[in-house]
Amino acid sequence: MKRLLLLLLMPFVASSGLYAADDTKEIFCDDFNEISFTKQHWTIDKHMLTSSVKFVKEGVDGSRCVKISNSEKGVVKITKHLTGLNPNTFYRVSAKIKTEDVAEGRGAILYLDVFGHHSAQPWNASRFVYGTTDWQEVYMDFVSDKHGETYVSCSLGFPGGTYNGGKAKGTVWYDDVKITETPKEALYVRESKHMVLAINPQHVCVDDHTIDAWLQALDKTYEAYEELLGVVPYGGDKIRILSTPGMEAGYWALAGDPILWNDNADIKGLQTNFKTHNDWGFGILHEIGHVFSAGTAVGDGYGSWNWNDEIFANFRMSYALDKYEATMAQQTFYKGDNIAYYKQAYKKCVAKGNLDSGDAIHYTLMRIAEIYGWDVYKKAFHKLYQTPDSELGRFSNNYEKFLCLMKYLSEAATEIVGYEVDVTRNCYTPVELEMIKKALTK
Ligand SMILES: [Zn+2]
Repeated sequence: MKRLLLLLLMPFVASSGLYAADDTKEIFCDDFNEISFTKQHWTIDKHMLTSSVKFVKEGVDGSRCVKISNSEKGVVKITKHLTGLNPNTFYRVSAKIKTEDVAEGRGAILYLDVFGHHSAQPWNASRFVYGTTDWQEVYMDFVSDKHGETYVSCSLGFPGGTYNGGKAKGTVWYDDVKITETPKEALYVRESKHMVLAINPQHVCVDDHTIDAWLQALDKTYEAYEELLGVVPYGGDKIRILSTPGMEAGYWALAGDPILWNDNADIKGLQTNFKTHNDWGFGILHEIGHVFSAGTAVGDGYGSWNWNDEIFANFRMSYALDKYEATMAQQTFYKGDNIAYYKQAYKKCVAKGNLDSGDAIHYTLMRIAEIYGWDVYKKAFHKLYQTPDSELGRFSNNYEKFLCLMKYLSEAATEIVGYEVDVTRNCYTPVELEMIKKALTK
């Protein structure tokens, strides 16, 4: 995956954020009334026989607009390539949109074309519009890349698939597409040592001081992850968290640069939990954890030993919470050592005769830290993060990856205690190993 190394601070930027002095300046607009202009400046993607893209006089107030149809599920879109933007700045793209019988996937949607310069923020999108609706405005905020370029798509369907598969069918009309710098009042922005938070102001329910205290907790998390792994992502640039209106229900947030925070998640609940329980926020700690995966933090060609980053994103979090005696909420609150939460999953699995769950395996990994201390993980991860995939050899299944981690942990434990240690044999029963093997080879 291509990564963006973005310079965060511009000379004139004060602590309040990443805006140019003159915000809301219109960068681009198209009401589609000039057919020739449209043909020159938009790329049309309609790869299916069932799809069409037309410029018709059915727009807002009877003006011209773009009509995209597809009777089968797919991705049909027009894309605008823009240059000359301020690098590393929040921009807002908005459009008027009307739909008829739009169904499935991510519906009718604005997004950044990931084949442009946005591979680090591939999921960012406007609200998904389905069914039959009258004209309304949709929008999304995004961060321009370091070259000051962007590719904005007005689409029916989305190329990536989360659980809904992305692709959609039906008819959508687009009109009055507009790109401005994100208006100052449209995002609540706070910065800390390692983080930039930019969220919908409607979701802020505590004072700046509390938000800053939470960001300091995220700074500590960042530093704990660095201590555990020996690296930082994006060359040490701050990690941005940006709220987005376009995300599937059930997701808290999605990793990337920026980390995207679901506008429909209980963002206020997290703030009050932080204030009253010192709950640092499982969802965000997890996503920051993903950003520290070897592939992102070190580069392509690293981290092939990692068979499931859902486990390791949480595992990084477990270390940070333990180190700082911090709290995370999962039905109830877990303070500091959070092994009890993962033990529940382990017990449930073992009762059914399997270890077919990331959380259950997570528990067994934490058990190793309980016996040998977190230092075995620091040593093992530091080494693994510096070892290119080519030197790790080829893995034919996930169990071999698990054994690779165990090998590095055994070496680390041997160094720490001063005699030969086999972590696999000392920390797992033969029955557990059989169950893990079964879970990781299917
Ligand atoms: Zn995840």
